[in-house]
Amino acid sequence: MIAHALFVSLMVALAQAQSPSPLALARTAITPDQVRKDIAELASDEMGGRFFRSPFAEKAAQWIVARMASEGVTMERKTIDTNAETGPNLVGVLDPRPETRTDGCVLVTAHYDHLRPKRSGDDKIHNGADDNASGVAGMIAVAHALQSCAAAGVGPRCRVLFVAFNGEEAGMVGSRAFVKDPPVPLGEIRAVFNMDMISRGKPREIFIDGGPKGATVIATLRRANEAIGLKLRVDEHPDWLDRSDQGPFLKKGVPAVLFSVEDHEDYHKVSDEVAKIDASLAAEVAQLVALAAIDAAAEPFAARKDPEPAPPATIPAPPKAR
Ligand SMILES: [Zn+2]
Repeated sequence: MIAHALFVSLMVALAQAQSPSPLALARTAITPDQVRKDIAELASDEMGGRFFRSPFAEKAAQWIVARMASEGVTMERKTIDTNAETGPNLVGVLDPRPETRTDGCVLVTAHYDHLRPKRSGDDKIHNGADDNASGVAGMIAVAHALQSCAAAGVGPRCRVLFVAFNGEEAGMVGSRAFVKDPPVPLGEIRAVFNMDMISRGKPREIFIDGGPKGATVIATLRRANEAIGLKLRVDEHPDWLDRSDQGPFLKKGVPAVLFSVEDHEDYHKVSDEVAKIDASLAAEVAQLVALAAIDAAAEPFAARKDPEPAPPATIPAPPKAR
């Protein structure tokens, strides 16, 4: 057994020595052109704004399932409530090679729903290119990059879960359902990388918020970013911690961060269209998430036994969603 284990370690080390770096692979795998193409499809008028409890959200869900399948990731539909009109969360898993597999998992997440059409005006459809076709395109790009890294023997050592949340705009319905009935124990989640609006604002600059609970993820991101060189604006918006799908995880003590730009002139307007996006920014954020996911999967980890703080006596109303 020892000889076998040594042999396996040797082969893994050799494969890694001969492989391109995750950085080089992520830079090749994630291109602004592909990110823009994915955003354009998800934010097209045919998707009708992807609003919660509509056939348009279902159409978007089916598009994501097919697109992730083309990256070799099977997305399962997870029901989030008993309303027949409510579409699912989508959850897919990337498994590491058994010989290198380590404990815990990493989550890469983005919400796919947006807003119902306006009642009047020439343009009624809320395309939601930045909010949040950009985050979903980022998640797909991360899947593509991690598959490349895995094929080269330098992929994540723990499982990576890709989650496309539904109902974020309706008060984080999907992510609250996820933490209530999680497909993996919450204590086994090493890090949550949640992308919500990653394609507007100043070039090469992104806001990352995780607060005290997200500090370990932010430390990992800062190290990974040394190779990417984005301008990271960290923890400048404590009021954002609750504003997207990382919120329910942070409340349960799960290390999580939000990647986002600041509100812009097209925020929650019909003019949030693909023509306005910065696909290079979204691509570089996705590259950073891919590298950080690999790093987070390699760090020492012990599952948290008691991630849940005492529940509040009354459940406060959800804050306004992004
Ligand atoms: Zn959003």
